[in-house]
Amino acid sequence: MTEQRRVIARVLSDAEDHPDVEEVHRRSAAEDPRISIATVYRTMRLFEDAGIVKRHEFGDGRARYEETPTTHHDHLIDMRSGKVTEFSNDEIERLQHEIARAHGYKLVGHRLELFVVPMGSEKET
Ligand SMILES: [Zn+2]
Repeated sequence: MTEQRRVIARVLSDAEDHPDVEEVHRRSAAEDPRISIATVYRTMRLFEDAGIVKRHEFGDGRARYEETPTTHHDHLIDMRSGKVTEFSNDEIERLQHEIARAHGYKLVGHRLELFVVPMGSEKET
């Protein structure tokens, strides 16, 4: 069990995308076929509670995971392909603090997700 958790943790830290549970399971099972989807679900919940992973909902109803990033970033989600791009923008960060302050609050965190389609593709549907 501990060994299986180690495999799942390694899969997550190697991931450069934001895999869902099925994808984490597929990659983990490639290393250790005994790892079940139930184990992955349980482990993800455990990792999430421990703050090791961050869970995201990118608008398609599926939970996606990433290792808790050391530096803050936001996400841009391609609604066609599901591709997730990470970005950070100092101006946006600054504005968010300003908005919170204007309302009498101190900003302690935020989530920003931009839902996009490729340029020009809105005419093709
Ligand atoms: Zn990310």
